[in-house]
Amino acid sequence: MGTATGKQGVELLVVHAAELVTCRAPGGRARGEALDRLEVIRDGALAIRGERIVAVGPTAELAAHYTASTVLDATGRLVSPGFVDAHTHLVHAGSRHDEWQDLVRERPVAGIDAGIRRTLRATRAASSAELRSRALADLDVMLRHGATTVEAKSGYGLDHETELRMLSVAAALDHPVEVVPTYLGAHVLPPEYADDRAGYVDLVISLLPAARRYAAYCDIACDPISFTAAECEQIAAAAVEHGFRLRVHADQTGDASGTALAVRFGASSTDHLDEATPDAIAALAGSDTVGVLFPGVTLHMLETVPGSARPPLRSNRPAWARRLVDSGATLALSTDYNPGTSPTPSMQTVMQLAARLYRLSYAEIWHMCTINAAAALDRSAEIGSLEPGKRADVVIWSVPEHGVVIHRFGANLVDTVIVRGQTTVQGRAARAGGDGRQT
Ligand SMILES: [Zn+2]
Repeated sequence: MGTATGKQGVELLVVHAAELVTCRAPGGRARGEALDRLEVIRDGALAIRGERIVAVGPTAELAAHYTASTVLDATGRLVSPGFVDAHTHLVHAGSRHDEWQDLVRERPVAGIDAGIRRTLRATRAASSAELRSRALADLDVMLRHGATTVEAKSGYGLDHETELRMLSVAAALDHPVEVVPTYLGAHVLPPEYADDRAGYVDLVISLLPAARRYAAYCDIACDPISFTAAECEQIAAAAVEHGFRLRVHADQTGDASGTALAVRFGASSTDHLDEATPDAIAALAGSDTVGVLFPGVTLHMLETVPGSARPPLRSNRPAWARRLVDSGATLALSTDYNPGTSPTPSMQTVMQLAARLYRLSYAEIWHMCTINAAAALDRSAEIGSLEPGKRADVVIWSVPEHGVVIHRFGANLVDTVIVRGQTTVQGRAARAGGDGRQT
């Protein structure tokens, strides 16, 4: 579209960002030395036409080439890609805050497995409408905190009816945030199958064709508290046959060879990695599977409190995280939002915890919440960075620099969120310079 001035017309221009972080990386993933090299454009600008970014660069450059019907003045503000939250248990019912009080008070607590079973009972008892309205309310919070794409697992049904119901709810959530459903029938063994592991594995496999109608991903928990490598292998092979891409809950409470399984099957991600062995880390580093880490779990399960009982590998989280980063593996951060071990829906909180608990750098954390998280969902060509051709999922922050978002904590620093080119959360930046479009 040319104009009389020779400039191209676009719908939206964001100009004068104190900093614009693109979060782009070679090949759509930041690993090795690239992880700590963040592209920052000062006095940055962004041109958007329809759902797409058409140009990114210094304001002087873009202002010379584009004219827009709406201009957002981001003076004094940071502009970044929307967050990608690649691992959540968004659809669920109930709360486990009461049993967490026992952990806090160092009284005997039911284990993680019992906790999941409790959410299982609540979720089975909830109606689809209840599950939907709660998930939508949570998505509102996630969006207001800067997430524009959120993965959502089943796994609190663990029976034919509830697993498919969870997936149908996740697949039909009408919300600006893109929801990516994942079938997690192989989460834990449900109590009714306590004496029939093979029977439950058969059930998980028998649901694959129906689950595939709603979900492109199948997740398998390969862990001492969940399923063995042999059981997971059986499920993984069947899932691949039905056209699923794989994700794995691995190395959470011990080594069950989950990461090796993930790498062997070319899984999109292997998640947790708390107890990952040196061999598992080496295998991950030699693959394109993305390792996903959860500082929210580290904090919430009180690993950081002196005297808390914890396995030895978790006792030095900064060294653990650095070993993973230095291996050259592609790594992402996520909320693992769930009512038991990580009840935070905020990727901002995840960033803030990753610096404090894992001692990751600002640049590392930004990449791990954007482009690498997009890679974990096989979407790094579409989202996760601010680049021409990508979907215009953009956050304008109330602070000027990317480090401030991580240095501060406990307050929501998002000003404006643009999803697919539409201003969806409207802050001061949008009110000051825009026409106040709201969807
Ligand atoms: Zn999980």
